[in-house]
Amino acid sequence: MTLRRKVIAGNWKMNKTAADGVALTKDIVAEIGREATVDIVLCPPFTALESVGRALEGQSIKLGAQNMHPEKSGAYTGETSAEMLRSLFVTHVILGHSERRTYFAETDAFINKKVVAALANQLKPILCVGETLAEREAGSTLAVVQRHTEGGLAGVTAEQITSVIIAYEPVWAIGTGKVATTAQAQEVHAFIRDLLTKLYGAPLAQKVRILYGGSMKPANAAELLTQKDIDGGLIGGASLEARSFIDLVKAADAAS
Ligand code: PEP
Repeated sequence: MTLRRKVIAGNWKMNKTAADGVALTKDIVAEIGREATVDIVLCPPFTALESVGRALEGQSIKLGAQNMHPEKSGAYTGETSAEMLRSLFVTHVILGHSERRTYFAETDAFINKKVVAALANQLKPILCVGETLAEREAGSTLAVVQRHTEGGLAGVTAEQITSVIIAYEPVWAIGTGKVATTAQAQEVHAFIRDLLTKLYGAPLAQKVRILYGGSMKPANAAELLTQKDIDGGLIGGASLEARSFIDLVKAADAAS
């Protein structure tokens, strides 16, 4: 039994038109609706935020974005600010996803600016951290996770930390079908909680939700979600289809 409410967040990545997103959202709402006992967040692409947000009106399911620019406004072609997200009733934002680190060269310092800006605008960051296969094989998993976590959280205050959700996503497990073993995942989650304890003290560290991400699906979720420090999942592939996403929510509910 933990005090932390579990979170299941769906990262749709660059998938679904607005119409497809609304159809998926309606299917999820029809089965879960207001009854959810876990926090559920849908993160469609920017082009579907408004219509998915409308489909979520009056429901407990929350709306998340997949990225954000740290500046308030200005000459940043193609970018989206916290204020713009807030105007669409977005409550969460994924930051520092490994695909952004890899394909868009995002650094810890830049991701940190986004985390700070998101919090200043009452958006809850889902800060992604995690090692590549080469880093794991070189024995630097914990050092990388420490650098991502401390780098991403620089300047985040004790008052703000419980609004942050951390997602541990081993890069080698994302979209590959390779899941970290429960022992591998729990080890890193416990390490992150220890880091948070050093930074913010135990009472606050115990309240921060740490999600696992990397090929999580209904078949492997129960085992992962019953680990002491695993408080939910950031779901890619399995969030694109209503049945598997709903089953993941149910698994989180059963593990609560
Ligand atoms: C992700 O990209 O956040 C993710 C966890 O993807 P998948 O579930 O497809 O591995």
